[in-house]
Amino acid sequence: MPTFKVAVLEGDGIGPEVIGATLKVLEKVSELSGVELVFERGLIGGSAIDQRGTPLPQETLRLCLESHAVLLGAVGGPKWDHLPTEKRPEKGLLGIRKALDLYANLRPVKVYEPLISSSPLKEEVARGTDFIVVRELTGDAYYGEPRGVFLEGGKRVGINTMRYTEEEIRRVVRRAFELALQRRRKLASVDKSNVLEVSGLWRQVVQEEAQNYPEVEVEHLYVDNCAMQMVRRPSSFDVIVTGNLFGDILSDEAAVISGSLGMLPSASLGDRYALYEPVHGSAPDIAGNGVANPLATILSGAMMLRHSFNMHREADLVERAVELVLERGYRTPDIQSPGCALVGTEGMAREVIRALEELWR
Ligand code: NAD
Repeated sequence: MPTFKVAVLEGDGIGPEVIGATLKVLEKVSELSGVELVFERGLIGGSAIDQRGTPLPQETLRLCLESHAVLLGAVGGPKWDHLPTEKRPEKGLLGIRKALDLYANLRPVKVYEPLISSSPLKEEVARGTDFIVVRELTGDAYYGEPRGVFLEGGKRVGINTMRYTEEEIRRVVRRAFELALQRRRKLASVDKSNVLEVSGLWRQVVQEEAQNYPEVEVEHLYVDNCAMQMVRRPSSFDVIVTGNLFGDILSDEAAVISGSLGMLPSASLGDRYALYEPVHGSAPDIAGNGVANPLATILSGAMMLRHSFNMHREADLVERAVELVLERGYRTPDIQSPGCALVGTEGMAREVIRALEELWR
């Protein structure tokens, strides 16, 4: 029987609640599929600061490096807001992403028909939206040198450097092509090659890689145009790949299309390691009340099954189970609408498990 070890980092606020719900769903997947999933917990963020004096203890890092995948809740909260930047819970997250060399961030955006009225877009525009933004995570203006604020002739000048090596581009672009192959075989590459040389190189590498993926239909968009098309024709996209800076902005724009923060999963992938987490934060305003929406984390768990364990059928079934639960009218308070059945975090997980068992037959 195959066995996979998962490092489970609950974090703070609603982290333990949404992770608890997700582990129940994953335990059911394990039971139904016969694939053994071993969960081992580690501390991160504020709870790690409280118990170990640091947001990313060595033993947590070691656990992640020894595991097949990392599943994370969320970090942070008002209790730690007064700490200096270096000691804040968020440092734990940045530290782990760096240590695991996670270079591709995947953010799926799906408009579920039962929740379509939550989208800020008109229903006829939002309907059928189902795409993934693949954002490069380790390069670009965020890391390029030189950087800083310098004096030139007695005046200050701020400098950042947009920089990509062709290999950095190639590895994330390949990921995006592979993903497109598993989906509807369409890739939109986003750059600003009419103005930026680094974007010119990006586009060239995409064109070179496209030769290896003749089944995938490739579209090139300038980032300004993509920002518009994303809200004009979101359902036409399948996989969107772009650099760190453009991806930072576009993935947040994409996130609002679904209209429900509690529904958005994510994955950050490297060559050896991978981390899965919901897009939302630790939601201190509702933590401990048992009302947090666990679906973003459950869907992150489905991504883990697909991308880290090659359990495609199981991942599809978990995603389908989530859809079915929404179709049946179960809602946590954040996505509640009139006439629907209100459930808490655990109730939602129970419904997902029930739907999963039915779909499995
Ligand atoms: P947030 O995402 O935690 O919450 C924003 C709003 O959405 C809140 O009203 C919250 O109740 C609601 N919400 C979020 N997730 C929900 C869910 N699953 N179910 C129901 N409602 C949900 O963002 P914030 O309030 O800006 O940040 C709170 C804390 O989280 C801060 O300390 C911040 O630094 C941290 N944060 C962490 C991460 C992360 O761990 N990746 C990401 C963003 C923010």
